[in-house]
Amino acid sequence: MKGTVVVTGGSRGIGAAVVLALAARGVPTCFSYSTHQEAADVVAATAADLGSPSIAVQADVSVESDVKRLFSAAQGLGPVTGLVNNAGITAPQSRVVDLDVDRIRRLLDVNVVGAFLCAREAVKHLTEAGGGTIVNVSSRAAVLGSPGEYVDYAASKAAVDTLTVGLAQEVAADGIRVVGVRPGLIRTDIHASSGEPGRVERLQKTVPMGRGGEADEVAEAVVWLLSDAASYVTGTTLDVSGGR
Ligand code: NAD
Repeated sequence: MKGTVVVTGGSRGIGAAVVLALAARGVPTCFSYSTHQEAADVVAATAADLGSPSIAVQADVSVESDVKRLFSAAQGLGPVTGLVNNAGITAPQSRVVDLDVDRIRRLLDVNVVGAFLCAREAVKHLTEAGGGTIVNVSSRAAVLGSPGEYVDYAASKAAVDTLTVGLAQEVAADGIRVVGVRPGLIRTDIHASSGEPGRVERLQKTVPMGRGGEADEVAEAVVWLLSDAASYVTGTTLDVSGGR
């Protein structure tokens, strides 16, 4: 893998695992975070300890100027050849009939508008670099619908899947692959926003493999999709869900 990879939401969870998995393979990264600068600094320092430069940039993916700033910072480490469109949010459990409009708008703003803005910026940089790969982080929720929990979140991830299908065809001739991963139940801090203590423990009983996944297990799939080993894979999304 040559060039710099931009990872959105790299301060914790799946994004942090991707940054460190790339660093271990000698890949420079520039990652965004929304809050918790200390956590972001620890990830960047750990990547450096692994031998690869890494820059943490406070940036909201739903803000156009922040996205441009993130990619400009990345270029300081060399040409950008990859994007992991990972930043995402969930919300407390709610039936559709009770949904608040501001919550729906914020979910779509971060998960969909943010993914589009980053993909758009990435296409410009990857074209300039002569090609590269975009990996969109979706969710099994896109397929399962998440009734009674967050259908709005599930719909936002279905939009991410469609971005993968459509954009892949638009840019294939430019040497750019666009792929996705659909994590199932992964043990990260994102579940705290569901408002249900013990959510992970309850749901992992529904996973055929009998456990929730680890962020590292998603990161390994992302690294493979970014690599030349996946050179003929584009326009598709891989489930990383223990069979769920
Ligand atoms: P997390 O909450 O642990 O981390 C999210 C990261 O995104 C953080 O670094 C946060 O700072 C960043 N972020 C949030 N809003 C942002 C914004 N507006 N701009 C920039 N950065 C922002 O979450 P996670 O579990 O690691 O999830 C990562 C991705 O995987 C998300 O897109 C999520 O929807 C998806 N996913 C997670 C699971 C799971 O079970 N954990 C399952 C399916 C999909």
